[in-house]
Amino acid sequence: MKRLIFDEDHEMFRDSVRRFMQSEIAPHVDQWREDGACDPSAFVKAGEMGLLCMWADEKYGGAGIEDFRFEQIIIEETIRHGDIGLFLTLHSRLVGPYIGRLGSEELKARLLPKCISGETILGIAMTEPGAGSDLAGIKTRATRDGDDWLISGSKTFISNGINGGAFIVAARTVADRPHGIGLFVVEAGMKGFERGRNLKKMGLKTQDTAELFFDNVRVPARNVLGDPERGFYSLMHHLAEERLISAAQEVSHAQVAFDLTLDYILERKAFGKPIAAFQNSRFKMAEMRAALDITQTFIDQCVLLHNQGELTAEIAAEAKLIASELESDVMDNCVQLHGGAGYMSEYRISHMFTDARVSRIYAGSSEIMKEIIARSIGLDERKLLAK
Ligand SMILES: Cc1cc2nc3c(=O)[nH]c(=O)nc-3n(C[C@H](O)[C@H](O)[C@H](O)COP(=O)(O)OP(=O)(O)OC[C@H]3O[C@@H](n4cnc5c(N)ncnc54)[C@H](O)[C@@H]3O)c2cc1C
Repeated sequence: MKRLIFDEDHEMFRDSVRRFMQSEIAPHVDQWREDGACDPSAFVKAGEMGLLCMWADEKYGGAGIEDFRFEQIIIEETIRHGDIGLFLTLHSRLVGPYIGRLGSEELKARLLPKCISGETILGIAMTEPGAGSDLAGIKTRATRDGDDWLISGSKTFISNGINGGAFIVAARTVADRPHGIGLFVVEAGMKGFERGRNLKKMGLKTQDTAELFFDNVRVPARNVLGDPERGFYSLMHHLAEERLISAAQEVSHAQVAFDLTLDYILERKAFGKPIAAFQNSRFKMAEMRAALDITQTFIDQCVLLHNQGELTAEIAAEAKLIASELESDVMDNCVQLHGGAGYMSEYRISHMFTDARVSRIYAGSSEIMKEIIARSIGLDERKLLAK
């Protein structure tokens, strides 16, 4: 379906991103999958193309582009021509804005130019071995020491965990208040900061995911993001954008799976006719086409709402819920339509299937998305039980 949200500038930008992905990223994807991580030079090349932290002010080397449609194009072209595990957008739009909006001038002047060039890769560390969905349950502590903070604890499942040069770390600053959490920028090389191994995963093989350890890491006041007791609310505020990013990735990933499956079933024959000619194949493809168009249209609308500063947490949760569930269904149908080939690693659909599985878990699981949506329609468990 023709998408109405892009104009000529967006389409020109899309052409240049596509060419970049085809020439600079696609040739390396198989090797990165073997290695379990992309080469960090991918970020430097993306930085040279002006694709990182485009929102940042020109005084730091950014382009001052807030329009999320440009990021949506990067997401779509990365997935179509590169690989979904290359987390450029996590760096640029999920983590970077915390520094842009909440960072001290000193931090921004020092760090943002390196984030824009790709020299420093960003990650965000919220999840711990004992707390994922329940962010208020984190145990990593930050204690004040003069003007500095000392951070101790551990994080797990952190994206860009091996290649990352700076991490936003959520740490408890108020012992007896569940939401008493601060956000701190911990940089590679700080004493007491160690990374664990690159965790082996079912999918997302080009993405490095690691444990991070903090042993009395001294973080100066200039690396504190906003009010050190109100980081929980900053996280909640930014999570709407994180969910929009996820939703945009998920529907793009599903669109690519659909397209390559359409090609496959037109080529492959059984019982003397193309697989595409079976009624089951045609109906499955028709159902997926309809669901993809509807979901894409909803996400495009969310992008416009986000551009206007009007994307609410519950609408973003709806987008993430619907897109991630659809992505899983599409991947499953597409593997089935490939038959045995769909289970073979040499066919892209086989790893798209495993890459997709995490979408219903990370960036807030489907169950948490349902909680957020239910609360927004007056179905808050605590309030209902209190009646
Ligand atoms: C590949 C990958 C990359 C990741 N990257 C990052 C990252 O960069 N930074 C980061 O901080 N984290 C990251 N995560 C962590 C991710 O956000 C968490 O895994 C996710 O939030 C779920 O938390 P959990 O794993 O602790 O599961 P749990 O919270 O233990 O949940 C287990 C199950 O219980 C369900 N559940 C939990 N609470 C409720 C509830 N109230 N109602 C109903 N069901 C519930 C969940 O939906 C899930 O099905 C990543 C995870 C993966 C797998």
